[in-house]
Amino acid sequence: MDSFQYTRARTITEAIGIAAQANTAQQGAPVRFLAGGTTLVDLMKLDVERPTRVVDINKLGLDAIERTADGGLRIGALVRNAALAHDPAVVRDYRVLSEALLSGASAQLRNVATTSGNLLQRTRCMYFRNTAMACNKREPGSGCSAIDGENRTLAILGTSSHCIATNPSDMNVALAALEATIHVQGTRGIRAIAFQDFHLVPGDTPHRETVLEPGDLVTHITLAPPHPGATSRYLKLRDRASYEFALASAAVVVEAASGRFRYVRLAMGGIGTKPWRMTAAEQVLTGAAVDEGAIRQAATVALRDARPQSENGFKVELAQRCLAHALRLATGMASV
Ligand code: SF4
Repeated sequence: MDSFQYTRARTITEAIGIAAQANTAQQGAPVRFLAGGTTLVDLMKLDVERPTRVVDINKLGLDAIERTADGGLRIGALVRNAALAHDPAVVRDYRVLSEALLSGASAQLRNVATTSGNLLQRTRCMYFRNTAMACNKREPGSGCSAIDGENRTLAILGTSSHCIATNPSDMNVALAALEATIHVQGTRGIRAIAFQDFHLVPGDTPHRETVLEPGDLVTHITLAPPHPGATSRYLKLRDRASYEFALASAAVVVEAASGRFRYVRLAMGGIGTKPWRMTAAEQVLTGAAVDEGAIRQAATVALRDARPQSENGFKVELAQRCLAHALRLATGMASV
């Protein structure tokens, strides 16, 4: 690990100012905000992340979960994953988010990892974490070892010839289905970013994973009030039952009435280069009868643009089955 300068910020303005000043003075040399550290510190030990300055934001007080005036939820950037998963309002009104959080990592990690850290969680592509291997995401222009290498766990949606890495977060999949809003403060002021616009597909710049600019700080996330009558579920399929990343996962938020889908929001994880919203499948289901035929058709449509790699063709059917069963769970057509 390289040496770096550590600073504990006392206010948001101070944290942003330090990052902006360091970026200017050191011509883009990396500055990183430190929250739970469950991703950043690991990657620093591996020499994948090599910041010259680390700004600790744990004393900024961004750790509250509060009701908004319209009945939604405001989640501070530093709320720990465990606290969010077990918050009574989340358990009652946003079950998909609670289930997604509890399916990720381990109890110990969830006690430390934060909402903003999870939002910005970096890929688990093994070549990204190995500095002896070529990786365009870690070192732009060096190549992608995964395309002709071991890619069983990697993406089938949103890939490019430069990168096929998956976004590893479960929480992000739930937030995509809940149409969350990300609130950011930086040198350009305060911005609100729709969740679907926050993460980027790799294209020819896989090192750019979000629309954040250097020095931008995520302050909180907001959720709209729960849709009346909607139920939500998260289903995760993986190689082992715990402490494992998704091969395919599905977050579904649905309202059904008189035997028909009235409101449908779907997102999937483990298969996309970003948390993947399934809008075409939503359109198939909206207004359709709640039955096996509609669910299977939606699952087929959801994966029609999939482009499997050499080792992960199995993910197409796995993801279809995952989405279909999550819909059965949310509509009461299945109980387990
Ligand atoms: Fe790097 Fe992306 Fe290729 Fe993995 S898939 S080696 S992260 S460029």
